[in-house]
Amino acid sequence: MTVGAVAAGWVHRHLLDVEGLTREELERILHLAVDMREARAARAHGSLLENEIVGLAFYEASTRTRVSFELAAKALGATVVDLGIAGSSVSKGESLVDTLRTLERTGVTMVVLRHASSGAAHLAARTTGLCIINAGDGTHAHPTQALADALTLREALGSLSGRTVAIVGDVAHSRVARSNIHALGTLGAHIRVAGPRAWVAGFEAWPGVEVARTIEDALRKANAVMTLRVQLERGARPADHLAWRLDEERMQLAAPGAPILHPGPTNEGVEITADLANGARSLIGRQVENGVPVRMAVLALLAGVA
Ligand code: ASP
Repeated sequence: MTVGAVAAGWVHRHLLDVEGLTREELERILHLAVDMREARAARAHGSLLENEIVGLAFYEASTRTRVSFELAAKALGATVVDLGIAGSSVSKGESLVDTLRTLERTGVTMVVLRHASSGAAHLAARTTGLCIINAGDGTHAHPTQALADALTLREALGSLSGRTVAIVGDVAHSRVARSNIHALGTLGAHIRVAGPRAWVAGFEAWPGVEVARTIEDALRKANAVMTLRVQLERGARPADHLAWRLDEERMQLAAPGAPILHPGPTNEGVEITADLANGARSLIGRQVENGVPVRMAVLALLAGVA
C-alpha cells in the first residue's frame, strides 16, 4: 500500500484490542507499518494527520509507548497534546470520562489512553465521540505492543505460520501476553505459555494455547521466546525468579538461533539475564524501533487517511 493513498475498507473506528481483528486486518497494519518505516526514513510521509489533534492520556507510567505514539503522531503532521496526568485535574478528582469529554471539547479528535483499569478504553469509546487507541488497560490488552512484536517476529522468522512462540513468566497479569496470544495466534503461530502455576492458571482454556509445566518444557524447540516483567503493580507476588529466569543454558533448549523478546522495561537478572537481554539473539531494541511505524500505521488507518 502506498503511504498517502486512501484505502477503503477499514471498518474500525477505535483500536481497543487485537482480539477480533482478522488475519487480513493484522496483515494490513503490518504492511502499512513497513511502508511507514520506509517513508519515515525517507522523510516522505507527508502530513496525513494534519487535521487531527492527538491527546496522550497516560494514567500509568510509560516510556516506550508514550514516546513512540508522540513521535508517530508528529511524524504524520498531527498536533499532539500530552495531558500530563499528574499535573491535570485528575489530581482534583475528575473522572476519566469527564477528563476525556473535556479534551473532546477542546478539539482533540483522537486519544491514546493508558489506564490501570481493564476496560477503560472500551468505556472511553462508548462514552465520548473520540477515536480511542488503547495504549494498555490493566491486565486486559496492549494492542500496539502486540502489533510491534508481531512485526518484529515476522521479520526475524520470515513467517509466523506453524512457528512456536513461548511466552514465559507473569502471563496472568500481562496485557502484553494476552494481546500477543491473540495477534500471533491469528497470524498462525502456536503459543506455549509457562510460569508459576498462579501466573498461567486458566490459559489451558484458551484456544490454541498450550500450558507447559516447566520453563524447560516451554523452551524446547521453541522458534522464539518472549519473557515478561513481573507486574507487581497488578498484585503479582514475586515468585522464585531463578526457577523461571531466561538464561543462556535454558535458551540452548530452544530452536537454534531462536530470538528473544521482552516488551520492556526489563529487570535484568530477574526475568532475563543481562547477557541475553543485550546479546545477539535479543530483539528487544527492534521491538522498540518498530513501535513508531506500527503506531503511525494505526493512527493513519483510524483517521481514515491510509
Ligand atoms: N510496557 C508493557 C506494559 O505497559 C510491559 C510492562 O510494563 O511490563 O504493559
